[in-house]
This record gives sequence, C-alpha cells and structure tokens, in this order.
Amino acid sequence: MRLGIFGGTFDPIHLGHLALAEQCRDQQSLDEIWFVPAAQPPHKLGTTISAAKARCEMLEFAIAGNSAFRISSIELDRQGPSYTVTTLEQLKTEDDSRELFLLMGADSLQYFPSWRSPQRILELATIVAVNRGDRPLPDLSEMRLACGEIVETRVVTVTMPGIDLSATDIRQRVASKRSIRYFVPRSVEAYIQEHRLYGQSENSV
Ligand code: ATP
Repeated sequence: MRLGIFGGTFDPIHLGHLALAEQCRDQQSLDEIWFVPAAQPPHKLGTTISAAKARCEMLEFAIAGNSAFRISSIELDRQGPSYTVTTLEQLKTEDDSRELFLLMGADSLQYFPSWRSPQRILELATIVAVNRGDRPLPDLSEMRLACGEIVETRVVTVTMPGIDLSATDIRQRVASKRSIRYFVPRSVEAYIQEHRLYGQSENSV
C-alpha cells in the first residue's frame, strides 16, 4: 500500500490541509492518507494547543465522506514530543509492506534538516513537498548538505493552486469575531462555535 502520512497540529484543520492531502493522493497515486495529529510538536513546545480530543473531532468532521482519508492516533498514544522518525519507524514495524510517503508544506520542508534524524526519515519515507501559498518550494541544497545523495530520490514535489491559509490566522479571526466561513469545512466552523474554541467570549456567535 502506498500510504501518505500527514502530520500536523491541525488546530484547526483547514482547507489548505485538505487540498494538500487530496492533491498528494491524486498526483502521487496514494492509496490512503493518514492524518496524524501531533501530541506535542517538538517545534511548538511552550505554545498552547487545543486538547487532542477537540482537534481529532474536527479532523473527523473534516474528512467525513472521503474513503481514502483516515486519522491515526499513533502520536497521541505516545508519551513525550511527537518525533516523526519514531512515528515512521513504528508504522514500518507494524507492517513492512507499507510504502510510506511523508506529506509536508514548503515551510516544514525548509526546517526539515533540523528535525530529529532527517537521514533516517528519508530511508523510511519519500517526502512529498507541496507549495504553501504562492511561495516557491525552497531549493534542496541545504537538505543535500544535511542528508546527502538520498535527497535526489526521496524528495518529490506536488504543486497545487496556492491556498494561503494558516491555523494561526484562523484562530486569530475567531478570537476577534471575524468570519472563517469557507476557510474550514462548515462542520468544523460549527464545531468551533459550539465548543467556543480560540478565545470566543460567552456572547460570541
Ligand atoms: P499553525 O498556523 O498553527 O502553525 P498550520 O496552518 O501551519 O498551523 P500545521 O498543522 O502546523 O498547520 O501544518 C501541518 C502541515 O500542513 C505542515 O506540513 C504545513 O506546511 C502544511 N500546511 C499548513 N497549511 C498549509 C497551506 N495553506 N498550504 C500548504 N500546506 C500547508
């Protein structure tokens, strides 16, 4: 099985994430995409993120109806920071026939050389790098320096119409009572309102 792994905080999931996942599935002929919400992203230590339950429930609403999309709680079930290399090792150990593809936006790719065990990650999975907004993908020279030749065969790119959304911006809009309609699925928008996420006051709609 060609399995796409898409890690993130998903606080909340938005249309940029969904379009990225679907374009990777389509352009790389992936059988399934597993959304992997991070328990504690190593690069976001010290920042407050919503409870895993809320992030997962929003993910469930967002992917409903897409039979290729799943949620994996593999990182939530583990203690400590969510290192991607550990996740990939675990997924391979569970089932060695899985061909793993690690999906990420251009901003994540840029920091990839500083992740834990980047070379091992490239042995375990092919990186599928996607443009974020209209910014071009970063060049791979730094990755080549950090990881060597393997970069040539283990990094592929997918391009899609730029969707310049971020969860940070969505949270800020909610907090200041601005609209997020059409930035997230309707069901996710309703969930955010119902559960008063992201600093909504009692009388906000
Ligand atoms: P935050 O603003 O809270 O940092 P985010 O919107 O960047 O959140 P994450 O959950 O941190 O979302 O990102 C998960 C992955 O999705 C990362 O690889 C990131 O590059 C990618 N991604 C997020 N938003 C987009 C987008 N609009 N277009 C393409 N890729 C995206």
